[in-house]
Amino acid sequence: MYQVKFYKGDYSARQTAANEDDCKLYVEQHFNSSASQSANYAVVVTGYNASQTSKNWGRWYARAVAQEFDIPVGGDNGLLVGGYNGRGDYNLRFTKMPAILLEPFFVSNPQTAELIKTEDAQYRLASILTESIQRFLPDGGLIGFSVGHKYKTSSPNDRGAAVFGGGAEADIAEAVLLKAQQQLENIATIPQEREIKVMHGNEILWKGNIDADSDVRWDGQRGILVIG
Ligand SMILES: [Zn+2]
Repeated sequence: MYQVKFYKGDYSARQTAANEDDCKLYVEQHFNSSASQSANYAVVVTGYNASQTSKNWGRWYARAVAQEFDIPVGGDNGLLVGGYNGRGDYNLRFTKMPAILLEPFFVSNPQTAELIKTEDAQYRLASILTESIQRFLPDGGLIGFSVGHKYKTSSPNDRGAAVFGGGAEADIAEAVLLKAQQQLENIATIPQEREIKVMHGNEILWKGNIDADSDVRWDGQRGILVIG
């Protein structure tokens, strides 16, 4: 079973509270922004003191977002250790559990800004976070969520970057995390097998457990999904 708790207050206070609650993982959701409207890649920030688990988890998430939305990964194979010249490090450095800061899209990019305002894209992004948590914490536990910018004691009006065409980074970040919370808390049992799904948009057409050693590949020429 997964349980999600949202942490508010200044960033150091959020991390301290998550440590006291013995959270098993910690996620802070942001979106990127650039003066260049064409900037477009998925990246995850970790603290300078991050564990290898945090780095692996961050890279897994960035690659999954890049594949799902057909955009490149940024940073070093999707990872920016310490953030942008140290910006981002403070958001995670006090955590005692694996912790990542998500920057999946640029809200300054007109195409991705339009996309991420849709419920569908928010759901898909939340699903990637949910799946990453299942992968890196298969036995469940308490997960700490932090909405970037919003609810800071020292800067209560901060909402992060402006979203192209209207809206604020922090409000979309919160919408995505709330969807991930709902997904995580609805996972009744922890899959012990290797589960795979066939999806049509957000609809699961089929899911089932396959042998952990099976090779799964799509034969595009014959139109067959081959398991074995
Ligand atoms: Zn931000």
